Amino acid sequence: MRYDVLIIGGGPAGNYLANLLAGEMRVGVVERKGSFGGKACTGIIGAKNYKRLGLPEEAILNELRGALFYSRIQSFEISRKSAQAYIVDRKTLERKLAEKALEKGADYYLQATFQGFKNGRAIVQHVGERLEIEADFYVGADGVNSTVAKAIGARTDAEFLSGYEIEVMGEFRKDFVEVWVSKDLNERFFMWVAPLNERIARVGTLESLRSFREFLRVRMLKPTSALEFKSGSVGLGWRKPWVKGNVALLGDAALQIKPTTAGGIVFGAFCAHALANAILEGKLGEYEKLCKGIKKQISFGLKFRKAFLGMSQDDIERVFEVLGSREAIEVIESQAEFDDHLKTARAILKRPKLLARLIKISPSIVRYLV
Ligand SMILES: Cc1cc2nc3c(=O)[nH]c(=O)nc-3n(C[C@H](O)[C@H](O)[C@H](O)COP(=O)(O)OP(=O)(O)OC[C@H]3O[C@@H](n4cnc5c(N)ncnc54)[C@H](O)[C@@H]3O)c2cc1C
Repeated sequence: MRYDVLIIGGGPAGNYLANLLAGEMRVGVVERKGSFGGKACTGIIGAKNYKRLGLPEEAILNELRGALFYSRIQSFEISRKSAQAYIVDRKTLERKLAEKALEKGADYYLQATFQGFKNGRAIVQHVGERLEIEADFYVGADGVNSTVAKAIGARTDAEFLSGYEIEVMGEFRKDFVEVWVSKDLNERFFMWVAPLNERIARVGTLESLRSFREFLRVRMLKPTSALEFKSGSVGLGWRKPWVKGNVALLGDAALQIKPTTAGGIVFGAFCAHALANAILEGKLGEYEKLCKGIKKQISFGLKFRKAFLGMSQDDIERVFEVLGSREAIEVIESQAEFDDHLKTARAILKRPKLLARLIKISPSIVRYLV
């Protein structure tokens, strides 16, 4: 078997790349599972980029036009007129992308586990059979615990966190996501409540199961009213290199994920465009350079994360006072971009009054962010 490009991993990043390349090149996709979807993921994706990237509308379950922020003792609301983000069904998202790639001529191998490279070929265990697949380019889109990354000797200093999420019955505002920031409950991450409708929401956090249980209690949601429980992991940081020889890493395999919120689908799709261009030009070495915008966002996100980890709950309460002020809300409502946290932070820090108040809380935080 021979392909121009062999993609290892049929998640959102791998299937999106398959779509970009199939029809132009001979593309094979190797997926370990027997069907698509199933990963722990809230499925929140910025609405503007969802459309821009041409992601499938059939996968959209709900539209969010605002957010409710809660700290230990405060809350404020950001509200926009139109949808800012969608909540999607991961299975439909991945399957629709795969369907389109198949229509364009890609080959899919399900129940096929990539095991390593030997003599320049990919060794794949496919439904009880050992395959050797040869390709001009190999792409590791095999998620956070990437076997391809290990095979090329990629290294990381990232922070790896476990993620927990349930779909649970309760009472919710249908078009508002809730973001809870309380170090009493979780030292290392925020908690989220993302409604599918007024009665069901996806509720989750990263880091510890104990924090997750405690949050459900505080939010008055019963674990015994859950429809689904999932766990997974994310890596926040760098894994390098993204390219070695004729092998490239994409999506979570390359840790192309926002360190601020752990959202990775949009970053993976943008980097898929960069990778497709580099492959079509036959210049894999250009890939990282073409991902410059995403790398900038990751750098900013890592600084933001460092600042967040260094804050006490009292600092967070003071930051809430600033962000919940009329001026800050006006800036966020008019200028915030769901997937561009750097732009949002800059817009806030451009306001002299807000900047002065934030510097007072912690000069180091502002220094990190500017
Ligand atoms: C609790 C939680 C909530 C999240 N919520 C969001 C969110 O709301 N929005 C968002 O954008 N992101 C979210 N994320 C992150 C998001 O899930 C990832 O960024 C996204 O799944 C990355 O896509 P990917 O295709 O790179 O990797 P994956 O989705 O992990 O896909 C990798 C694929 O490769 C396959 N594979 C793995 N190893 C092999 C192998 N050896 N051989 C063959 N196939 C293999 C896997 O089966 C899988 O199908 C969340 C993550 C967690 C843990």
